[in-house]
Amino acid sequence: MKLDRVKLFNNKPYIIINGKYGQERQFGKIIICKFCGQKTFAPSFRIKNGSAKFCSPQCSGKAFAGDKSPIWKGGKGIRSNGYIEITIPKNHPLRLKG
Ligand SMILES: [Zn+2]
Repeated sequence: MKLDRVKLFNNKPYIIINGKYGQERQFGKIIICKFCGQKTFAPSFRIKNGSAKFCSPQCSGKAFAGDKSPIWKGGKGIRSNGYIEITIPKNHPLRLKG
């Protein structure tokens, strides 16, 4: 979440999101991305569920690239010719039949 969208109310940082009833305030905290070190806004629901660690899905993806993701059990490797090789698990829905 980019910091240029963050505003302050009583010293609490928040962003405006498009919610059910129009624009709503989403309070949260300024955190430091564990991957790139950038300051970023984390909404409070993400702090509560423990997922507020990174500034972007890209950073969390890079941090968890490989094997630690509970969803993605495949692997990634760079071949000698420079192509990135992605291993898809046998039972993964993305794997083509045949
Ligand atoms: Zn980051």
